[in-house]
This record gives sequence, C-alpha cells and structure tokens, in this order.
Amino acid sequence: MAAWAAAVAAAGEAVQTASMASQSRFGRSRFGRAQSRLGRTRSRLGWAHRIRRVGNLINLSTPLGLLIAAIGSARRRPGPSGLTLAEGYRVRFPPAGAFTVGNVVISPLTFATLTARQPEVMEHEDVHAWQYFWCGGLAFLPLYLLAVGWSWLRTGDPASRNPFERAAGLARGGYREAPVSNAGLAYLAARIQTLTLKPSRLAERSR
Ligand SMILES: [Zn+2]
Repeated sequence: MAAWAAAVAAAGEAVQTASMASQSRFGRSRFGRAQSRLGRTRSRLGWAHRIRRVGNLINLSTPLGLLIAAIGSARRRPGPSGLTLAEGYRVRFPPAGAFTVGNVVISPLTFATLTARQPEVMEHEDVHAWQYFWCGGLAFLPLYLLAVGWSWLRTGDPASRNPFERAAGLARGGYREAPVSNAGLAYLAARIQTLTLKPSRLAERSR
C-alpha cells in the first residue's frame, strides 16, 4: 500500500512539474499548461510514466480504452504523462465528464472545455491510470464496481466512499462528498423486508 501511495504521489508531482514550466492555451489549468508544451512533455516522459504506459498496454487496459474510444467515435491525440486523450466521445454511458480506461482518458467534451470546467480533472484521471496499472489492468473494473457498491451502500452516492475516487481526489474529479448515512443500506433493507413480507402476507390471505 505504501508503494502504491508513493507512486501515486510521484505521478502527481510529475504532472505538476511538467505543467508548471509552461504557458497555457486552455486558460489557467495546470493540465492546459502541460498540453501547450506537449512535444517537450512527451520527450521528457519520466521512467515511471514510461513503465505505466507499457504496463497498461500489456495488461490490456489501454487497448480496451482505445476500443471504447473507437466505439464512441472519439478523436484521439497524445496527452501529458504518456496518456492518450480521446474527446468528442458519442456514447452516453458512462454519464461522466471524463473517464479513464488504462492510459486513455475519454470525454464527450473537448479537453479545453473540460479543463475550463474542472481545472484539476487531468490530475484526477492520471491517478486512475495508475490504479489500472497497480490492479494489473482489467481487474480494476470489477474492483471499481465493488467500490461503487460499497460507496452507494454507505452514502447513496457512487463516489463519496469509493476508495478509488477518494484516492484520485473527489473535488478534483468534480464530486461533492456525501455524508455517511447508510442510505443505500437502508434502501436495500427496506426492499428485502418488502420481499420477505410479501410471501407471508399472501400466506395469511390464503388461510
Ligand atoms: Zn474518478
């Protein structure tokens, strides 16, 4: 876990360092500043990002991301830190401003629009790319679904208690943190009660 945290921190630092040195054509976004020096950023890709890029290619998460981008007719271009940006995604699922599969960050918007709305969204998505790497690729998807389920049970919201979203930064990803209310659990308990009560009521009526 410590190695995981250190790698995530290192990734965050690398993104920051790459972006701090340059000017923006997308406004004040740190990601935008990194984008405007794309050539330099790419040639200076650090060893950690190189390993992540190769790892996410071999573990098939990046190929899956490219396939999803192609299905959604998204336009692809190279992004910072070895990521691929796919914008103008046309499929309505998942309902998100942006989502990451392997090293591919996919958005229905243009990244200029997206980063204007959420200046730190790329730092958030960068952490997700690391999460695919550390989960060994496609195993991230069932683990993420479990995390969504857990968060929903605890708060009634898919992100607030989802460890993957919390590690990536809720605010940076455009999420508002919902309090722990066990809203999902309460809903589920009520449904189970209805289901178990129904047969006994039917039995009562038939007497
Ligand atoms: Zn996220």
